[in-house]
Amino acid sequence: MADFKVIIVGGGLAGLTAAIHLSREGQQVLLIEKKAFPRHKVCGEYLSNEVLPYFNFLDIDLKGSLKPINIQRLLYSTQNAKTIETKLELGGMGISRYNLDNFLFKKAQEYGTEILLGSVENINFENDEFRLKLSSGKEFKTAIVLGAFGKRANLDKSLGREFEKQKSSWLALKGHYENPEFPDNLVALHNFEGGYCGLSKIETGLVNACYMVSYKSFKKYKNTKEFKKQILFNNPYLKGFFIKAKPVFENDLSIAQISFEEKSIIKEHVLMLGDAAGLIHPLCGNGMAMAIHSGKIASEAVLSNLQGNNLNRENLENQYRENWNSQFRSRLRTGRILQKILINPLLATTSQNLVKNFPYLLEKIINRTHGQPII
Ligand SMILES: Cc1cc2nc3c(=O)[nH]c(=O)nc-3n(C[C@H](O)[C@H](O)[C@H](O)COP(=O)(O)OP(=O)(O)OC[C@H]3O[C@@H](n4cnc5c(N)ncnc54)[C@H](O)[C@@H]3O)c2cc1C
Repeated sequence: MADFKVIIVGGGLAGLTAAIHLSREGQQVLLIEKKAFPRHKVCGEYLSNEVLPYFNFLDIDLKGSLKPINIQRLLYSTQNAKTIETKLELGGMGISRYNLDNFLFKKAQEYGTEILLGSVENINFENDEFRLKLSSGKEFKTAIVLGAFGKRANLDKSLGREFEKQKSSWLALKGHYENPEFPDNLVALHNFEGGYCGLSKIETGLVNACYMVSYKSFKKYKNTKEFKKQILFNNPYLKGFFIKAKPVFENDLSIAQISFEEKSIIKEHVLMLGDAAGLIHPLCGNGMAMAIHSGKIASEAVLSNLQGNNLNRENLENQYRENWNSQFRSRLRTGRILQKILINPLLATTSQNLVKNFPYLLEKIINRTHGQPII
């Protein structure tokens, strides 16, 4: 049985950010992650610039170290190839999860976070402390647990989280492609029957193509090649891209059961971070920034309520819940509405005409699904 003040479960963006923040402030932190670094992840790999001031505060020079692609424009196309293009006020970075997560993992180690490769099976809270059990049989006890274990994990079931009981019909696939014709400073979102595909360049000069689709649409086809040909290629922009593109991965990476349901922000006294607290629709391109931001507000709540061995748990939970709600609740709600509109061909066409006539509406939508620079 080992002891740590804070244990973070999950080493994605939310968990790694909280680990860096807390370790820099001298807290004794253990982060448990089940997969070894570096690794690719299914993600659109567009990171909003809103994270930059916070990374400066953490002494992390993302731009200097990883040389991400600077993205300033958004192009959206409907199934019948009608487009809207707009400048992204705040802009963002094209950066692979392979390099970004690995970079933050190394930073966390540098700042003194202890990192353990392993899968947490159970989290129990009793007598004001947590006991965590790993699949290896190892056990730990701790005062605080930050749950940063992503969209859907074994722990959701063992913690009895409500959303876990509902099946989700969304799956996502992604690959990296060589296609020198794709512009550097653009993120493109192309709609197709049953889903949409995001394209943007990453720091290596490759293009990340990530598409999300309903299982119902996908299951009619034998494989991804066939699906692309029969469905994605109906949108001429996607056909144009994929015909000229050379895949780098042997097969696309995939994930299933992507849930946009509301989740508990705190469950059994575990503070949930990033996607574990709620996934914003990927169309909004803000999930990574929200995960990083949630790492910040959780760390601040821990630091202001843990003095030496004294923890004010009630204040910790209230502070985290309040800040989480004020930062993210309305963004998630807007994301859900947006998804319903864009996935429905009739509503998508009507709303696109509306936006064409009143372009400021698109800026408004982007503002409502993104945050301000995180300071
Ligand atoms: C199709 C798609 C496209 C997206 N595109 C974008 C985009 O372009 N821009 C953007 O900003 N956001 C995007 N997002 C959202 C973004 O990927 C997520 O919001 C972000 O990765 C959340 O980070 P996280 O740290 O919460 O979770 P994750 O990055 O998923 O990390 C969770 C970690 O927990 C680990 N874990 C799970 N269970 C256990 C366990 N029991 N024990 C130990 N470790 C465990 C996992 O291995 C994983 O490493 C997209 C999402 C999807 C699905």
